[in-house]
Amino acid sequence: MSDPILEVRHLGKVFPVRRGVVLRRTIGEVRAVDDVSLTLHRGRTLGLVGESGSGKSTLARMLVGVERPTAGRVLLDGTDITDLLGTRGSRAERRALRRRVQMVFQDPYTSLNPRMTVGDIVAEPYRIHPDAVPAGGRERAVRELLDLVGLDPDHVNRYPHQFSGGQRQRIGIARALAVKPEVLVCDEPVSALDVSVQGQVINLLEDLQDELGLSYLFIAHDLAVVRHIADEVAVMYLGSIVEHGVAADVYDRPAHPYTRALMSAVPIPDPAARLASPEIVLEGDLPSPADVPSGCRFHTRCWLARRLVAEGEPAVDGVPSPCATEAPPLVAGAGTGHTGACHFVSRMTPAGADEL
Ligand code: SF4
Repeated sequence: MSDPILEVRHLGKVFPVRRGVVLRRTIGEVRAVDDVSLTLHRGRTLGLVGESGSGKSTLARMLVGVERPTAGRVLLDGTDITDLLGTRGSRAERRALRRRVQMVFQDPYTSLNPRMTVGDIVAEPYRIHPDAVPAGGRERAVRELLDLVGLDPDHVNRYPHQFSGGQRQRIGIARALAVKPEVLVCDEPVSALDVSVQGQVINLLEDLQDELGLSYLFIAHDLAVVRHIADEVAVMYLGSIVEHGVAADVYDRPAHPYTRALMSAVPIPDPAARLASPEIVLEGDLPSPADVPSGCRFHTRCWLARRLVAEGEPAVDGVPSPCATEAPPLVAGAGTGHTGACHFVSRMTPAGADEL
């Protein structure tokens, strides 16, 4: 394993909930990210998956310096950069940081200014980071970047509406690469694209990683997409990491009932395999991060908890007794070989959450 490039230690983000116009009172808080620890290794891809509202994008916004954490630390290449996130630190320090960690956005339709030419869009980072313009000059750099992402450099004077969705995402990637970052935070970069185009953009990201040695935090709600690109996978639920491990381990032996449910929703083309592994439908919506359930935050929707109670596990309020009262730590499962935040992970066989 290569050395760490980005380390997140016990990171948290709490947004106050305020009411009142004249007298603004804080009446609660939203725990968008809660005690998250992750490591991204140099030249590797860490996939972060979870439903909408699980806190993935808030975490991404902290890592690119847009949001300031309310708890925890972030280290970039061994240096603590927490005090430069949000509006902390000097403008020059924040600029230097943002040059090293760039973002690829979800929606290639709204993330590109329709009034700017592609050349101006890709060159935009050079306005903020003039010292990043290569020796050959801005125009040449833009043409090389377009070529690098598989676009025709002669289209430099065209406008975003003259490109397809996949081509627009390539423009967004070229813009992110202009300042030669070390880390790309890709926030659902293919979710808005047709399935036929998603593979092309994933392949492009993989090629660029090989060529430029980039490290990716790749965020998606679709486990099938992450499987193609990630070396490691972390699963997020209601602001917390509930499972983390090498991608092949997590996919072959999901240790957390939530991961198992997400995986069961991935379409399986083989009818026999589909019958052997029916979809687990989670009941209810994701709880509000302003009112996180006690104990295990997944207990209100956990199919495994209900099954264990039906099989005779001692229960409180319809779930096994520790589930409703104690938050399970993220620990290595005896059978699964990676970590899961479930009280029963130590009883799981190599089949993961399917067998106890
Ligand atoms: Fe389900 Fe209990 Fe495990 Fe939480 S601790 S995932 S509620 S079985």
